[in-house]
Amino acid sequence: MMAKFIFVTGGVVSSLGKGMSAATIGALLKARGFKVRIRKLDPYLNIDPGTMSPLQHGEVYVTEDGAETDLDLGHYERFLSQNSHSSDSISGGKIYYNVLMKERRGDYLGATVQMIPNVTDEIKEFISSGMLGEDFVICEVGGTVGDIESLVFLEAIRQYANDIGRRNAMFIHVTLLPYIDKVKELKTKPTQHSVKNLLEKGIQADMLLCRSTKPFSEGEREKLALFCNIERSNIIPAIDVDSVYKLPELYYTAGVDQRVLEHFNIKSEDYVPDMNKWEELAKKIDSLKDKVNIALVVKYGDASDAYKSLNEALHHSAWAENLDINIKWINTETLENTDDMDSFFRDVTGIIVPGGFGERGTVGKMKGISYARVSNIPYFGICFGLQLAVIEFARNVVGIKDANTTEFEHPCSPVISLMTEWISKGEIEKRSQDSDKGGTLRLGSYPCRIVENTLAHSIYNTEFIHERHRHRYEMNTNYEAAYAEKGLHVTGRSPDGVLPEIIELKTHPFFLGVQFHPEFKSTPFKPHPIFSNFLRAAKRAEKQK
Ligand code: GLN
Repeated sequence: MMAKFIFVTGGVVSSLGKGMSAATIGALLKARGFKVRIRKLDPYLNIDPGTMSPLQHGEVYVTEDGAETDLDLGHYERFLSQNSHSSDSISGGKIYYNVLMKERRGDYLGATVQMIPNVTDEIKEFISSGMLGEDFVICEVGGTVGDIESLVFLEAIRQYANDIGRRNAMFIHVTLLPYIDKVKELKTKPTQHSVKNLLEKGIQADMLLCRSTKPFSEGEREKLALFCNIERSNIIPAIDVDSVYKLPELYYTAGVDQRVLEHFNIKSEDYVPDMNKWEELAKKIDSLKDKVNIALVVKYGDASDAYKSLNEALHHSAWAENLDINIKWINTETLENTDDMDSFFRDVTGIIVPGGFGERGTVGKMKGISYARVSNIPYFGICFGLQLAVIEFARNVVGIKDANTTEFEHPCSPVISLMTEWISKGEIEKRSQDSDKGGTLRLGSYPCRIVENTLAHSIYNTEFIHERHRHRYEMNTNYEAAYAEKGLHVTGRSPDGVLPEIIELKTHPFFLGVQFHPEFKSTPFKPHPIFSNFLRAAKRAEKQK
């Protein structure tokens, strides 16, 4: 069958969970046996989100093939249990960059370069590029209808739908029905305006996903159908749920996938959905037994969007272990001016220091690591969390007082230092302190070989693994022997032996640091073994209390 395109836009306000909606629709179509791909078009002008603060835009998600993308790609991977590609995410900045590069190269010689057709063509090329025989391509357009940046993207998807034929394209608009307490009513007017705004751009929405805290009445559905010019049955309630993993069932019950298939004239009886795994997951989430308390020592308070994949990975593993996880977000700066670590960590049996950049907050993070090391509390350091564990160990156990990372101090004993050269996909990559900041990290999947008879080996149960990376600095192997003498060992490294990937403390119940980001590969149906093992260790520690 020729690929069908579903365009997901958002109206009224941002943060409506368009990404979750796109992921859920994808999951439902996949449950019916279709081959699905989801793509994200972000209108902002950064080339990619790699240089944006995660506080503004949520975490930077990294794909297997090394693209720094929007966090929504993480939702897509977790919901579809399949890898996204670097070609599944593009920003306005990258689109304009491509167009301007083409102009310089002379690709448009003689022509005036314009929004239409040059920029719109570039967007359309992205929408249809690199297809792998998919039945459905879901394209989520970031931002909110009405944003200046979004305009040319809306024009491009309008044109695209016209090019492939209206019956091969569907426009789904995610919107908000605010509840006004005083009159005890859900309000439809902002949605009517948003749909009209889309219509001005030549796009008639085919379906509304109405986010609200309460279900709407038949009267409200009637009103929306009338004013938005949309079939009644395509006006779908999307009320808040306590876990996003309940969305597939919710949308399925509301008939979303059924209506999508009807839109495309596909007989739904020929594609019976298998919703079993989603039903079981939802049941599991509601019947967890033991509690486990884990501290996350972070720079951005409890901004869980900034640590989205980590938060999700912890939950996937907790559910698989039948544990009700409570995450205690500890703002690292609150640890800086006190030595009373007990008051912060007394009630947890596991400590995580996740990935991070820059010096701010590192003193507190290292205090947390010291506490975990000395008090035998399970510790799991991810990327920066490994690097800081190495610095802490070098300073406090080996006695190298000026041990540091060259990321923020020169001169020092560089126990973590800039990697100036490495091999990626058979080619030599080079970096220096002055290299550009954007897109120049060690990114994406790299292999690692694990030493036998180690904690890492018992976790993975195999010798070779592949994990995703996003960092510029590496552990300096010149100090390795000194660490080993005191019990800290490198138990995983790149197959050529050059780059340390995993460290562990032999004399500790669970003290593990990894240079990569395992959280990017966890899905609800395939939790990551490090998180599962870490939580098991935390549960054991809970019992010993
Ligand atoms: N800032 C460190 C580096 O660039 C760690 C990065 C990370 O934690 N993702 O190497």
